[in-house]
Amino acid sequence: IVEVTGLEKAFGHLEVLKGIDMTVSRGQVICIIGPSGSGKSTLLRCVNLLEEPNGGKVVVNGYELTDPDCDLDKARTGIGMVFQSFNLFAHLTVLDNLTIAQRKVLGRDKAEAERIARLNLEKVGLAEKARSLPAQLSGGQQQRVAIARALSMEPEVMLFDEPTSALDPELVGDVLKVMRNLAREGMTMLVVTHEMQFAREVADVVLFMDQGVVVEQGPPAQVIGDPREERTQTFLSRVL
Ligand code: ATP
Ligand code: MG
Repeated sequence: IVEVTGLEKAFGHLEVLKGIDMTVSRGQVICIIGPSGSGKSTLLRCVNLLEEPNGGKVVVNGYELTDPDCDLDKARTGIGMVFQSFNLFAHLTVLDNLTIAQRKVLGRDKAEAERIARLNLEKVGLAEKARSLPAQLSGGQQQRVAIARALSMEPEVMLFDEPTSALDPELVGDVLKVMRNLAREGMTMLVVTHEMQFAREVADVVLFMDQGVVVEQGPPAQVIGDPREERTQTFLSRVL
C-alpha cells in the first residue's frame, strides 16, 4: 500500500535522505526508530509529499505522489497524519475540528460528518468531549482528538510522527492504547516513535534509520531484541 524507492531529500547541501527503500503492506504496522536528525520526520513527510523529494518514487494507495501530474489533494485524502504537536483549531469545538475537513474535502453533509466524528470520538474514548474546546483538554486528550480527526477522513494509511513525545508521562499510555487498538483493527500504520516497548509489541517491522539511510529492518524481536548492526546496538543501548 506504500512503496518508497530510492527516496532522496536534501535541504541545500544537507543530504537528509540518501536513497530510502521501504514497503508497507496493507494492515502492517511499521515503526521507524533512530537518533535525532537521522531523517525520520523527513521520510514521513515525504510519504504524503509535505516535503518534496529530490529523487526516488513514492506510491501510496496506487497514487504515484512523486509524479508531477499526480492529484495530490486526492492522493492525500487516503493518508492520515498525526504530529507531535496536535495542530487542532483552537477556536473550534472538538466536534467542529472533526467535521470541518470531512465537509470541505469530502463534501459530507453536516449530519453525516457529525455521525462519523462521534463514532471516532467514541473510539478514542472522548465521546463526552464533543462540545469542549481544545484548551479545555489535557495534552493526551488533544492528541486523541487529533487521531479521531484523522480517522474521520477514513484514511487507508495513518502516519504518526512521535505522537506521544510532547506529552507528560502519565498521559502517554492512553494515546498508545488508542494506537494499539487501531493496529489491532487492521489499520496500516507508519509510526516514528521512541517508545521501544510499543514498537516491540505492536510493530510488524521495525526500521532503524541513521544519517539518512535504513541501517537495518526486520521484525522487532530481531531489530530491537537482537540487532545485527553496530549502529543499531549503540542506539538501543542509549534508549533502552
Ligand atoms: P528527531 O528525532 O529529532 O525528530 P528526525 O530523525 O525526525 O529527528 P528530521 O527532522 O527528519 O530528523 O531532520 C533530519 C535533518 O534535516 C536534520 O539535520 C534537520 O536539521 C534537517 N532538516 C529538517 N527539516 C529541514 C528544513 N525544513 N530545512 C532545513 N533542514 C531541515
Ligand atoms: Mg522528527
